[in-house]
Amino acid sequence: MLEITDISVAGYERVRRAVDPSRGLHALIAVHSTVLGKQADGSSRALGGMRLWPYSSLDEAKTDVLRLARGMTYKAACAGLNLGGGKSVIIGKPEDKTPAMFEAMGEFVESFGGTYITAEDVNTKVEDMAPVAKKTSHVAGLAGKSGNPSPKTAWGCFLGLQATLTEVFGSPDVAGKTVAIEGAGSVGSVYGGLIAKHGGKVIVADIRQESALRVAAATGGRVVSPTEIHSVECDVYAPCALGGSLNDETIPDLSCRAVVGAANNQLLEDRHGDALRARGIVYAPDYVVNAAGLINVYCELDPKGYDEPRSMRMAEMIRKTLAEIFAISREEGISTARAADRYAERRIEAARAEAPR
Ligand code: NAD
Repeated sequence: MLEITDISVAGYERVRRAVDPSRGLHALIAVHSTVLGKQADGSSRALGGMRLWPYSSLDEAKTDVLRLARGMTYKAACAGLNLGGGKSVIIGKPEDKTPAMFEAMGEFVESFGGTYITAEDVNTKVEDMAPVAKKTSHVAGLAGKSGNPSPKTAWGCFLGLQATLTEVFGSPDVAGKTVAIEGAGSVGSVYGGLIAKHGGKVIVADIRQESALRVAAATGGRVVSPTEIHSVECDVYAPCALGGSLNDETIPDLSCRAVVGAANNQLLEDRHGDALRARGIVYAPDYVVNAAGLINVYCELDPKGYDEPRSMRMAEMIRKTLAEIFAISREEGISTARAADRYAERRIEAARAEAPR
């Protein structure tokens, strides 16, 4: 049986823990804010994926779910979506997942009555969402709907690249510019293809050498080792692998004018955004650049049904938002990362002020 308990956390609308030993579930769901997710009928909603991770303690899982849920609020705010931020984490090993566990998770999601909408995330796949959907309709990214978000995310990165080139060089023209891509996976490979198609040069690295070779062959680019990619001479460094690529070790070695990539949590700590600014490197905040995947899932929630051209049009917003964030950074003398947070907070505060009391 599913046992659900509420956890009170300051600054969060609702945090709950669920335990169901018979179905192997131990999970947390956090709804950070639904301020931007108010609907015409008075209901409100927040969206964020379902992560499965072998956390070493409940505290570690709680820290992660809270940080990720808050991040979703900011990502949706910067993407201009009518959506709040939430997240769920399941404490467990990926190899132990079962349909019964995901059904229990569906019941847990359902206990939020639609204020939390889930989707796939790290270690959960589109097919894992099918048992979730047996117990709740509040699940997005199902098979046969908006589909794989990675090509959309790559397209959003390309739009972010154009906005950043405009900030640095005064023109969005990618032709002749060199982009060093760290991670030749689902997003990095498509992003590289778009850069090459528009006349840019690609340098690529991946811990799976064959992936890097494939992207280099498709783009006419060259491969370097994963330990070199951040320091190669280029116009733009594009972290498209894991988080934390921008840290005390890598920042002094960067030989680029800007950073525009898909990876989440590229800055190891907030202060690394300040370090990039001090070096005169323009950092396009990750959660603004990589929002097209979220925009795509959001379009699936439309009662009129998913509309791919609409999703692509909505992603165009990334260019304009980045330009505004760069302007805030210049005018207020703060890092672009802090400027993105400020941009999101202003949108949330404006919605809060407008909401009927
Ligand atoms: P992916 O797993 O398909 O690709 C990641 C690639 O990075 C893999 O090929 C892996 O071998 C490589 N890699 C791992 N560590 C590396 C290292 N140290 N150096 C070089 N290469 C390394 O993942 P993806 O879907 O392409 O996502 C890439 C990043 O973008 C992730 O951080 C993800 O969270 C983020 N993101 C993805 C989406 C999406 O729509 N897929 C949306 C938003 C954010």
